[in-house]
Amino acid sequence: MQNTVGNAIFYAPQHGIRVLAEDGADDPLSKDNPLYEIYLKMDKLSQTVDLEDPSRTPGALDLDALSMYSWFREQGASADEIALFLDPSMNALVSLDASELSSLGQLAAIKMCGGWRNMIASNARGAQYQRTRNGNQSLATFLQSTLLPGTVRLSTPVSTIERTESSVKVTTAKGVFTSSAIILGMGPTMYSGIRFEPPLGMVNRLSVERSFNGVYSKCILVYDKLWWTEKGLSGTPSTPEGYTHVTFDTSDGVHPSSGDKAALAAGLSPRQYSLTAFLVGPRGAEWALLSPEDRKAAAISEVAGAFESEDAKNPT
Ligand SMILES: Cc1cc2nc3c(=O)[nH]c(=O)nc-3n(C[C@H](O)[C@H](O)[C@H](O)COP(=O)(O)OP(=O)(O)OC[C@H]3O[C@@H](n4cnc5c(N)ncnc54)[C@H](O)[C@@H]3O)c2cc1C
Repeated sequence: MQNTVGNAIFYAPQHGIRVLAEDGADDPLSKDNPLYEIYLKMDKLSQTVDLEDPSRTPGALDLDALSMYSWFREQGASADEIALFLDPSMNALVSLDASELSSLGQLAAIKMCGGWRNMIASNARGAQYQRTRNGNQSLATFLQSTLLPGTVRLSTPVSTIERTESSVKVTTAKGVFTSSAIILGMGPTMYSGIRFEPPLGMVNRLSVERSFNGVYSKCILVYDKLWWTEKGLSGTPSTPEGYTHVTFDTSDGVHPSSGDKAALAAGLSPRQYSLTAFLVGPRGAEWALLSPEDRKAAAISEVAGAFESEDAKNPT
């Protein structure tokens, strides 16, 4: 589970800001955040979204035509406030800036998540909280090994999906399969690798053509000791001015500071201590163009700067 015990850091040296907040990584500036009132308005507006059919949301066309950036500007946010507080969150969530996102789409996402705070929280209400200790691939391999042979087929890319009135034929690199229906569980940006017969309808085609992948890199810094919890820090700094927008404690277990005696007794202490810097969105794209040495140096120096820590400079 994500360690949220200890102070979170919000570090923006060009703006002269370094704030410690006791609220885990939840919302470092909370009510002091200049966008706070707009976030509340956004939450309220998100409740009006029709999740079954977003086009039936009141004002749907206008909201869809307006980027999230423009909507925030209309509510009185400055470009600088958006760059400092909103863009880093959107980069970490979907690897895009607010200017690249439809207001309607994001309002729908906020409603689905139960509010903006849940979207950015690192505690039990939000993302990042729970992790698969041995990696997500273990879910697929576990299912494959426990279900009847042939039920789960790994490394079997689909090249064609042909639909008739009564069945769907799926052609893969390892054979052809027929069923009455299929569920396609992949992001629309990957549809282009599949030939659909008959072709996708216009709405689907438009959503595929207008979707694109952002940049999402992670730099994992592994340490031989838990120096950040020793300093009373949660390991989750926000650093909106850097290449590294957010960092999380990705030690794969429960820290002694969590006080979770049952988990500790069950042997769920971390097998490694690590902080993972997120290099995401447009700044992540700039970081990706640096040399490997410069990428490593930038991530380490930004994390060390936020923590004001010499220990941070020496990952193993
Ligand atoms: C770098 C990165 C870090 C992330 N970190 C986190 C995180 O810390 N926490 C979190 O909650 N989320 C994280 N996410 C988001 C999370 O990974 C996704 O939300 C989640 O994986 C989506 O699951 P999915 O099953 O819908 O799609 P996917 O996991 O994308 O699964 C789609 C599957 O379809 C397969 N596929 C593609 N084309 C074909 C084809 N032609 N034939 C057959 N199979 C095909 C792919 O190989 C893939 O296995 C991260 C994403 C990225 C890219």
